[in-house]
Amino acid sequence: MALFGPPGAGKGTQAQLLKERLEIAHISSGDLFRFHLKEGTALGKKASEFMSQGLLVPDDLVIEMVLGKVNELGAESGFILDGFPRTREQAIALDRALLEDSRGLDKALLVDVPQDELVRRLGGRFICRNCQAPFSLEPSQFEAPPSCSFCGGELYQRDDDRAEAIQVRIGVYQEQTKPVLDFYRQQGLLAEISGVGPVDEINRDAINALGLDS
Ligand code: AMP
Repeated sequence: MALFGPPGAGKGTQAQLLKERLEIAHISSGDLFRFHLKEGTALGKKASEFMSQGLLVPDDLVIEMVLGKVNELGAESGFILDGFPRTREQAIALDRALLEDSRGLDKALLVDVPQDELVRRLGGRFICRNCQAPFSLEPSQFEAPPSCSFCGGELYQRDDDRAEAIQVRIGVYQEQTKPVLDFYRQQGLLAEISGVGPVDEINRDAINALGLDS
């Protein structure tokens, strides 16, 4: 399945819960890029100039990276895609690759959140450098963020969660990723839920929308 939603909708949190529930792999294109960035690989260096501005990394780089991961899992393994596909070209490449193994996506799930709420959430979002867990901080904590309550790692604000990049990322989502939703809607694969409210309630809605027993 693939998870969709604007930046800050909570896709990563829901993906993590669904992964545990369904016992399948979680492939997050954003996390993969951040890993390459941290390791200083050639791909990380190429991606960083786009990421820091809130722009999409070119399709050929993303497609190779994500489909490489899907292939590594093998044709029998299920997976949750989080943050991919984000353009029509990526969606078509994914369809083609899955078709080669005589399979396709079972479901696409949109977690939707209104724009003013996204700006508020992203502006206060800090991430653990070690385990990637997200935290919501008040402006008074920005100068000296606390440590990660899960692993004690250092919390930092992503470059693309700064005010200038947030507006760009929301614009990119509207223009480039929304058409991908139509692509799956037309195939009858898209389910939609609200991403506003307590995490466990959103997860219950996700499970219902996916047709799983809660
Ligand atoms: P995310 O953590 O999903 O918000 O992704 C962080 C950044 O990584 C995005 O703003 C893009 O620059 C890049 N990125 C992640 N996934 C993709 C994708 N499917 N296509 C293009 N760029 C991506």
